[in-house]
Formats: sequence, C-alpha cells, structure tokens
Amino acid sequence: MTETRPDPCAPPKAGLLSVEEARAKIASLVQVIEGVEQLPIRAALNRVLAQEVISGIDVPPSDNSAMDGYALRIADLPAEGEVALQLIGKAYAGTPFAGEVAAGQCVRIMTGAMIPRGADTVIMQEQVRAEGEQVRVGAGHAPGSNVRRAGEDMARGEAVLPPGHCLTPADLGVLASLGLGEVRVRRRLRVAFFSTGDELRSVGETLQEGQIYDSNRYTLHGMLTRLGVELLDLGVIRDDRDAIRQAFQDAAAMADVVLTSGGVSVGEADYVKQTLDELGQVDFWRIAMKPGKPLACGRLGPALFFGLPGNPVSVMATFYQFVQPALHAMMGQAQAPATTLRLPTETALRKAPGRTDFQRGRLVRGSDGQLRVNSTGLQGSHVLTSMSRADCFIILPADCAGVEAGELVEVQPFAGLI
Ligand code: AMP
Ligand code: MG
Repeated sequence: MTETRPDPCAPPKAGLLSVEEARAKIASLVQVIEGVEQLPIRAALNRVLAQEVISGIDVPPSDNSAMDGYALRIADLPAEGEVALQLIGKAYAGTPFAGEVAAGQCVRIMTGAMIPRGADTVIMQEQVRAEGEQVRVGAGHAPGSNVRRAGEDMARGEAVLPPGHCLTPADLGVLASLGLGEVRVRRRLRVAFFSTGDELRSVGETLQEGQIYDSNRYTLHGMLTRLGVELLDLGVIRDDRDAIRQAFQDAAAMADVVLTSGGVSVGEADYVKQTLDELGQVDFWRIAMKPGKPLACGRLGPALFFGLPGNPVSVMATFYQFVQPALHAMMGQAQAPATTLRLPTETALRKAPGRTDFQRGRLVRGSDGQLRVNSTGLQGSHVLTSMSRADCFIILPADCAGVEAGELVEVQPFAGLI
C-alpha cells in the first residue's frame, strides 16, 4: 500500500493561498468575545466555561462501600482457615451504621453506604458464609478491599474543569456532584448571515425559469445551530449594490460575525468587493482547495466577516475548515486537535494535483472488521447530496494526483467536527 500523506508545506499554485496559510491568517484576525453570564447548570450544556471550577467538597464525601457485603477489620481475618465474626448491625446508603466496629465484629453493608467507624475493609457477600448472627470469612483478602475513598473522584480544592472547556453531559453531572447549581459561561456568539444572488428563491416561493431554491441559508442554519450560537438570518439579498450595502451594514451592527454566501467569485459582482472595501477591511482569497476556492475574510466594523463561496458544498467545506474553528476561538473554546484517521479507500479517487481536496466519503466496516472509506460518488461543488450522504471528508493533499483502491488516505470524520 502506498501512503498519501498530506503535505501542508507543498507549494500551492501561483496566486493561491494554501489551506494552512488561510487558517493562520484567520487565526490572526480572531479575538475572544467579551461577556459572561451565570446560568443554571442544565442551561449551560454546550456552553464555554468562563471560570475555573474548583471542588468545594470531597466527592465522594466519605469512605463508602463499592459492594454489597460485610464491613470489618482486616486485622481480624486469618492467615489461613476461617474466622467467625459477630454481626452487629446494618449500614445502608444514606443511613449509616451509628456504632463502631470492634475487634471480632462486622456490619452488613450496602453499596454506597458509609464505612462504619472501626472497619477498614468490605468483603463481598458472595465470599462469606452468613449464619444468623455469625459471619464466617476466609483468608486472602487485601486491606481496604471494596472501599471507595473520600475525595477519590474530586478532592476538596482540586481544579476540576478549566475555563474554555465546552460543557458536556458528563460535566453537568460533575457540577451537580459538587452541589453547584449555577456556573459562569461565555455569552453566546451572535452570527448574522444572508445569501446573495438574483437567482435565489426561498422555500415557499415558486421558481421561475433560471431560478433555484436557496439551500445555503439552511445548511448554515444547521451548522450554526449545532455550534450553539445566536442566529440572525437576514434572508436572501438581491445582487443589487444598495441592498447589499444595507445588508452588510445591518449585519455588522448586530452581530459578532457576519457570514454571506455567493458573490465572491473572480470577476463577478464587483460591487460586493467594492462595498466591502468601503465598509471594512476585507481580503479576497483564492484558496488552493476543492471545493471552495474563493473566500473573502476580514473585518466589517467590529464584526469578523466571512464571504463564503456560493456553491452549496463549498459553503459547507469552507465553513467546517475555516469558519467553525474561528467561531470556537471567538467563543473562547479551547481547541481540540483535529481528529483524522488514516484508512484505506475502497475505491480509486480521481484528483488533479494543485489543490487540497475535501472529497466526501462514508466510513464502512468490511467483513474483516477493518474500517475503510468510500466515496459518496459525484463530487461537484453543486452536488449537495455528496455531503448529505457523507459522514467524513477524505482529505487529499495538494500534490496528490489521484489514489488507487486500497491506498491509505486521510479521513476527517464529521462525528469529531460537529
Ligand atoms: P456565486 O458565487 O454567487 O457565483 O455562486 C456560485 C454558484 O452557487 C451558482 O451556481 C449559484 O447559483 C450557486 N448558489 C449561490 N448561492 C446559493 C444558495 N444560497 N443556495 C444554493 N445555491 C447557491
Ligand atoms: Mg451569485
């Protein structure tokens, strides 16, 4: 098998920015937003922590039993043979045994019950012989068996969650275990977006000849919703200088980030470029990637601006590769390393050298148990089903000139992305 390793240092075609260069330029434009709010923990799922969470208590708060069994003193157990201990009471989770276990005694104990004073070890009920008030226990038990120690999960004073951490279901449970009802998180990012194009109609309208339905606002709605941002959908804006200028101004006044799709191709609708030059500092890039070559990026007043390409697959590819990491950074979210796998492709993949391809694929598990990747078929930047049928990007480096079936390729699962 031949390996096709992505080479981020491969020189892009003349005049084109490499994917890595574009990422670095975007990173230099990004600033974490101001603004923090205190939320009940249930409402804080998927939000970015704006504080360090320090444990104010020990979790668990006291030594307790990991098993249903008998709490006793390890020193009472024999080196060999059996010993008979006197059963003096019961300890339930939530109802501790009030007394103390003395030499020669034991207490029946349930999972989660506090270890009674005097006892240091729990023997599973399956490993003893209980006969009325007598409990017979054999040799070979380790001291402290089946005891969960106080503070073993979280110790008082311990840093449990760092600022910048995006709260998961497990974290809500962790906060609840600490008895915390509220937590400080960053405010939501406000993202305004609109589509540009005279040919576009919205769902609910009737198509005339030459018109198509606007799909980009819907994919953007979906991707942005998953990120938990506040959405400001400004609709479809005609290819008209004044309408475009007004829309850019409105969007920049109300949002932290402005996203548009369409109208950034070379030679087309120059007034988009003119308007952006008037209103902000925006660069028009041609990125050595497929799909999604044209991308405008910069500042529109205080807002960060991305002018995404018009083609539906290009919108999604550029969003995931450039916009999403930038939004995470603005939200103050610590960046996890990109999750990619190296898997054999089941089918040959066609590609011309020059640009990094983000082809759409599906993961499949063969009868041998090995994970592989398949192409979703037609890869045109207008073929949106190539995206909806996919569960991963197949990333082919700029210098790659096609891949044979069985070769290893770099795969970026959507599951790690969204
Ligand atoms: P543009 O960059 O404006 O030239 O658009 C490139 C291609 O994407 C054209 O075929 C457009 O019709 C198409 N396109 C632009 N915006 C959208 C949209 N919002 N939904 C679907 N297709 C679009
Ligand atoms: Mg257009």
